[in-house]
Amino acid sequence: PSPVNESIVLDIRLVPYGRNQRLLLGRDVTRLQRLESMRRDFVANVSHELRTPLTVIQGVSETLVEADLEAADRHGLELIQQQAQRMGRLVEDLLQLSRLETSSRPADVAPVDVPAMLHSLRREAETLSGDREHFLQLDVRTQCQVLADEGELRSAFSNLVFNAVNYTPPGGAITLKWWCDKDGAHFSVTDTGIGIPAKHIPRLTERFYRVDRGRSTKTGGTGLGLAIVKHILQRYDARLAIESKPGVGSTFSCHFPIPMCYQDAAASRAG
Ligand code: ADP
Repeated sequence: PSPVNESIVLDIRLVPYGRNQRLLLGRDVTRLQRLESMRRDFVANVSHELRTPLTVIQGVSETLVEADLEAADRHGLELIQQQAQRMGRLVEDLLQLSRLETSSRPADVAPVDVPAMLHSLRREAETLSGDREHFLQLDVRTQCQVLADEGELRSAFSNLVFNAVNYTPPGGAITLKWWCDKDGAHFSVTDTGIGIPAKHIPRLTERFYRVDRGRSTKTGGTGLGLAIVKHILQRYDARLAIESKPGVGSTFSCHFPIPMCYQDAAASRAG
């Protein structure tokens, strides 16, 4: 029972009962929701508080690295810098997740030129790949656009593209594909990387879930990338599909429903 004068939250479900009947079940989830909101606030506050000391550590170590140092000291300092950068990425990812959790709809929606975004993501992936020389291909089938928050969409797609680079051995191939059809707009990233055993696939979008902790720590990932992708796609009623075979490679695809698509007349005439 909830205290008088306080609003309560009910979870109401209609479940099959007997042959042709339905049962209406109501559950008081007020306490559960309050706890969940406290957890969200706590994570957001801690992440925010960590930002300032981290900036100081990064700033001071950057200045010190310029100084005339013994090799051992320099090595120690570089380690501090590396780990501070990693912690910085973790804090930023946690803050992004908190922001995504506190509102269910994107604030800044406009037609997004996805093909242009993918060209720039491919260039960034090339830089990340560096001397690992991946073969990066872009396959834009349709010029259709989507109504979305550009920053959010970029964040979701870049997480998938950078994962493909990080989990594909040197010389492997990575293909980014964008197309539209009667079912909506679709983006996929296919790689010829290490792949993922089937039993891990359903849990990949959980926070900090990793297939192989050792390997993921080497890539400098935060373990939050796919959780962020899942939260962003949910805001657009989009779906993430994952197909993978260990030792062969993986395909991560995002499927946006039809109302998200926006066919630019000028672009389709030109294209
Ligand atoms: P991380 O920062 O560890 O990469 P993510 O949430 O982005 O975290 O991914 C979760 C886990 O899924 C990774 O640790 C990795 O084990 C696996 N994974 C993600 N993308 C790929 C991929 N393209 N190929 C193989 N494994 C992948």
